[in-house]
Amino acid sequence: MSDKEKVYRVAMLHAANLLMAQLVMSLKDSNISSATDECTVTIDGGHQHIVKGLVECDCTHFLTTGLPCAHIFVAQDHEGQVKFVSDLVPQRWQRTYSHCMNRIVLTRVMFQ
Ligand SMILES: [Zn+2]
Repeated sequence: MSDKEKVYRVAMLHAANLLMAQLVMSLKDSNISSATDECTVTIDGGHQHIVKGLVECDCTHFLTTGLPCAHIFVAQDHEGQVKFVSDLVPQRWQRTYSHCMNRIVLTRVMFQ
């Protein structure tokens, strides 16, 4: 399964679109230097960001959405890991979770 298929299977549409944009960005020229548990990542001459433990970043994208960003993908790739793993998608952005929430809302509306 390609990363794209995985992304759309796991994440809700809005989140999947954001993830795809970050995956595309992670393919651009990047610079990475890694220390024990931290990587310093620069993509396409942009700001330098710190990725911690391959799962957290200090960039706006990660801080506002909680979704993995291009810096995390670059770091994962650098460490020889698969770029996208579903565990990185917070529960609120997962398709199964949104189906579940829709059902709860629907049930409430029907029985009110
Ligand atoms: Zn980032």
